[in-house]
Amino acid sequence: MSKSTAKPFSESKLLHADRRSNTEHGAVRKPLHVSATYAYPTAQALVDTFQGKQSGYVYSRQGNPTGAALEAQINMLEDSHSTCCFTTGMAAISGMMIALLRHGDHIICSQFLFGNTNSFMGTLSQLGVEVSFVDATDPQQVASAIRSDTRMVFVETIANPATQVAALAEIGQLCAQHAILYVVDSTMTTPVLLQSKNIGASLVIHSLSKGIGGHGNALGGSISDTGLFDWSTYSNIYPAYQKGDPAKWGITQIRKKGLRDMGATLRAEDAHRIATGLETLSLRIKATCDNALALATWLEQQPQIKRVYYPGLASHAQHERAAEVFSGLYGGLLSFELDDTIDCLAFLDRLQMVILSSHLSDTRTLAIPVARTIFWEMGPERRASMGIDDNLIRLSLGLENTNDLIDDFRQALA
Ligand SMILES: *Cc1c(COP(=O)(O)O)cnc(C)c1O
Repeated sequence: MSKSTAKPFSESKLLHADRRSNTEHGAVRKPLHVSATYAYPTAQALVDTFQGKQSGYVYSRQGNPTGAALEAQINMLEDSHSTCCFTTGMAAISGMMIALLRHGDHIICSQFLFGNTNSFMGTLSQLGVEVSFVDATDPQQVASAIRSDTRMVFVETIANPATQVAALAEIGQLCAQHAILYVVDSTMTTPVLLQSKNIGASLVIHSLSKGIGGHGNALGGSISDTGLFDWSTYSNIYPAYQKGDPAKWGITQIRKKGLRDMGATLRAEDAHRIATGLETLSLRIKATCDNALALATWLEQQPQIKRVYYPGLASHAQHERAAEVFSGLYGGLLSFELDDTIDCLAFLDRLQMVILSSHLSDTRTLAIPVARTIFWEMGPERRASMGIDDNLIRLSLGLENTNDLIDDFRQALA
């Protein structure tokens, strides 16, 4: 039996979450609303909607009913009170940070980061936000980096590509003790492995382009507020947004400053595709995790493989933590190093079914040599600090038959 503290969401509630407010014409699925703007019967109603005295839509850059239905589904998944969607995961991360941070602030960030998030940290530094990178698998390192001007701790749950598992619960306790905003990028785990509220996250980020949409046919991002953080203590909230229930101050500022002013709005068409993918989230994630565990176990036994990184393996440095904090699944991503005598690119060329591509959490299995592609720009030193060997191959497992996958790797190694 798993010792997991994860409280799984209800698949049944998820499947019906978009119909809770109202349904149009009895439609079983939320329709695609493509109108850019919204009209009102009276001038007073238009004024009241603009001033937030009555709920409603004014212009689709700030939200639309198809996107709102997806936001309701994500709230259900994360047990959060509010969610704001963006056009990509990067738009969610950068929009949230620009909205909530100011020149002179300090933030603590895991050194094991998605490449473009790492690149954005460079932009933030240029704008006068000081970023301390720490090994987030070690809560001591996070504790020692905390200062009086620390505004935020940002971590990824399972890091890409070397699958380090951050000290998620311990960092949650530290942030609670010091009243610091705790932002967790849970793209690699999805709510099937982890409900981030259980480890103390204040804000939860998802790249909806990955597991949540799941079919590689739409980009999107989201930020959810779990309600654990007391925004009345956060000094960067503009007076205009210090109104009403403080629980909503943070997400309001993210929606106004991060989404409305910067304009990275999720298109209704993409919200609709992502919402359709979301309906099968549990089934897909369980299947890709099963494939990843089977392949990781098989690869680890092959003499031509030097090392396999997968949190589900007993050999993984944070295996026990992963068993404790996740729901008994370990994710659909693994990485491995080939023996030095094997040419990494030639090996990849011999794969017949597996697709050579970046991206992850697709229905199909994808492989990429990460040092020479997605982590190329950051240079050898930063790569070494993230545990990225020059020949490291990252695999994102899809929904193929497990034996077919193993056969493809067997013939490529032969
Ligand atoms: C892909 C990814 C992102 C960025 O998401 P996009 O939708 O591609 O912008 C952020 N964080 C993690 C962990 C990711 O895997």
